[in-house]
Amino acid sequence: MTVATTTKVHNYSAGPCILPREVFEKAAEAVLDFEGSGLSILEISHRSKPFEAVMAKAQALVKELLGAPDNYQVVFLGGGASLGFHMVPLNYMKLGGKSAYANTGEWATRAVKESKLVGETIVVASSEDKNFSYIPKGYTIPSDADYFHLTSNNTIFGTQYKHFPQSPVPLICDMSSDIFSRPVKVKDFALIYAGAQKNMGPAGTTVYLFDPERLGQTGRKLSPMLDLKNHGAKESMYNTPPVFAVYVSMLTLEWLKKTGGVAEAEKRNAAKAKLLYDTIDRLPLFKGTTAVEDRSMMNATFVMSDASLEPGFDAMWKEAGISGIRGHRSVGGYRASMYNALPIESVQVLVDVMEEFARKNG
Ligand SMILES: *Cc1c(COP(=O)(O)O)cnc(C)c1O
Repeated sequence: MTVATTTKVHNYSAGPCILPREVFEKAAEAVLDFEGSGLSILEISHRSKPFEAVMAKAQALVKELLGAPDNYQVVFLGGGASLGFHMVPLNYMKLGGKSAYANTGEWATRAVKESKLVGETIVVASSEDKNFSYIPKGYTIPSDADYFHLTSNNTIFGTQYKHFPQSPVPLICDMSSDIFSRPVKVKDFALIYAGAQKNMGPAGTTVYLFDPERLGQTGRKLSPMLDLKNHGAKESMYNTPPVFAVYVSMLTLEWLKKTGGVAEAEKRNAAKAKLLYDTIDRLPLFKGTTAVEDRSMMNATFVMSDASLEPGFDAMWKEAGISGIRGHRSVGGYRASMYNALPIESVQVLVDVMEEFARKNG
C-alpha cells in the first residue's frame, strides 16, 4: 500500500472536516489489521473484548478531557446531532411541560422545530433579526421551563458563546462544532451533545455526555432507541454502535490528550483565530460578518467589500492549495473552519493569500 506522507491541501471544510494525519494513518492500519489481531476493525464483533476496550477508552477520554463529574455518562449513537434535536425534548420535556431555546442559527432553528413537535416551546432569545450575526444577551430564562437549550457555536454563521448564561433550569447544549476546542464546565450542563464530524472524528456518530440523574422524569414512554437513559444503562451497547466512527473518535481524542488536552487546544485555536481575524480587520478588501465580541474561534465568516473581486480571490486561494472556504449559501462570502486539527501553518497560507490579493487589488 502506498500512502502519501504529506498533504499539501489546507482543508478548511466545515464538516466533515480535517482530522490529524496520524489518526488517518492509525485508522487505515486498523482497517487492515486491528492491533495485530489479523482482523479488521470493520469485521470484529462490537461485543468482543478489543472493541469493548475501544468503547470504554473513548468514553473515558470524553470525560477526562472535558473534566466531567464522575457520575456523568457518555454514549455514542447514530443519527447525527439532528436526531439529538428530537431526543432532547423527548428525554427532558415533561408531558404537559415546556422547553426554552435560544435561536442563534440554522441548527438552533432546527432544534426549536423538533422541540415544537414534542410540546410547548418558547424561544426566549433570538438573533434572527440580524441574520444570526450575534449572540443574544440580557434575556431571562423562565424558571418553569424543563430545560434551556443553546448552540455553543453557530457553524454556519460564525458566532460562538464566550460565556454561557446562568440558568435557573437545566442547561442543554448542542456543542457539535466546538466540543473539545476549549474547556467547559460540564457540571453546569445536564446534557452536552455533538455530532462527531466537526471536531471529534468522522461522520457517523454523535456523542452524548449527560447526568443520568436528570433522566427518566418526563412521564413519557419512549422507544428504547430514543431513550438516553437506556443507552446510558447499556453503556452505549444497546444496539450495535457505529464501531468505526467510535474508533476513529477515540484515536482523535488520544491525539488531543497527547497534544495537551482542551486547554492547549484552546490556546492554539485562539492563536489561529487571532491571526485570521486580525487580517480580515486590517485589510479593507475583507469584512467580518459577525459581531466582533461573538466571533467564533472555529468558523470565521467574512465577505469581500467588492463582490466582483471574488473570482480573482477564489483563483488565488485555490492555487495555494486551500480547500473548503466558500461560505454557506445562507451567508455567502467565505467561511474558514479552523477545527482542532487545522495547523496554524494552514491559516498562515490563507493570510498570505489575502495579503497578496490585497496588494494586487487594493
Ligand atoms: C453540523 C451541525 C449539526 C448537524 O449535525 P448532523 O450530525 O449532520 O445531524 C447540528 N448542530 C450543529 C451546531 C452543527 O454544526
